[in-house]
Amino acid sequence: MAIEISGISKQFGKTQVLRGIDLSIADRELVALLGPSGSGKTTLLRIIAGLEWPDAGQLVVAGEDWMQLGAKDRRIGFVFQSYALFPHMSVRENLAFGLTVRPKAQRPSAAEIKSRVDELLSLLQIDTLGDRYPAQLSGGQRQRVALGRALAIEPRVLLLDEPFGALDAAIRRDLRRWLRDVHERTGSTTIFVTHDQEEAFELADRVVVMEQGRIAQIGTADQIHDHPATPFVARFMGAVI
Ligand code: ADP
Repeated sequence: MAIEISGISKQFGKTQVLRGIDLSIADRELVALLGPSGSGKTTLLRIIAGLEWPDAGQLVVAGEDWMQLGAKDRRIGFVFQSYALFPHMSVRENLAFGLTVRPKAQRPSAAEIKSRVDELLSLLQIDTLGDRYPAQLSGGQRQRVALGRALAIEPRVLLLDEPFGALDAAIRRDLRRWLRDVHERTGSTTIFVTHDQEEAFELADRVVVMEQGRIAQIGTADQIHDHPATPFVARFMGAVI
């Protein structure tokens, strides 16, 4: 799904958090929102999800005006840094949850749900973990299940907010490769938030560098690295390397 964001602004109290964001994302693209804490990354993601409303601006997805749609009708998969799985449900039950709570008319049959969960277990490379409970999983395994839950509803857009933020460096690297692979196989348009430059550059087709509610630069890893558009971008890259 191609995403067209234009002129999005948002103020919380006296704080201007987003200042006229324009951003075009191609169908099946994987884009990272990169920037220091407080630059507005999460707010932009939440506006795309319909969890927050902008003061001004447009959001058009696959030609459809999403400002007219509530959060539920947008069919977004959302993964947070500390995604709470249901502790009393097995991995299979967690993965099936989004399908089983659908209104009856849209609910797949039990056999369809089982086959979808089997597919997800295989896609996520956690085939052997279906009957375990969240407490019996490692942090990295839990985030795979969290992503599986987001993918179960076949989202039109996948949004990830610092999905690996709580995990240690070696697991983060593994999960990065794995996420890239899952992204290619599902073909979802994906936006993820990170303040980790290495993560953004390794994973994303294009990186959007944010500074105080504005986009400082959009480009591939090489473009941004070799030709930072502003002193801020140069400093930010330098500071994180
Ligand atoms: P980032 O994800 O880049 O860290 P955020 O979008 O979370 O940035 O936050 C940007 C700014 O907006 C911060 O100053 C934050 O305190 C403020 N902010 C975010 N959400 C709210 C809210 N619901 N109410 C008031 N201020 C908020």
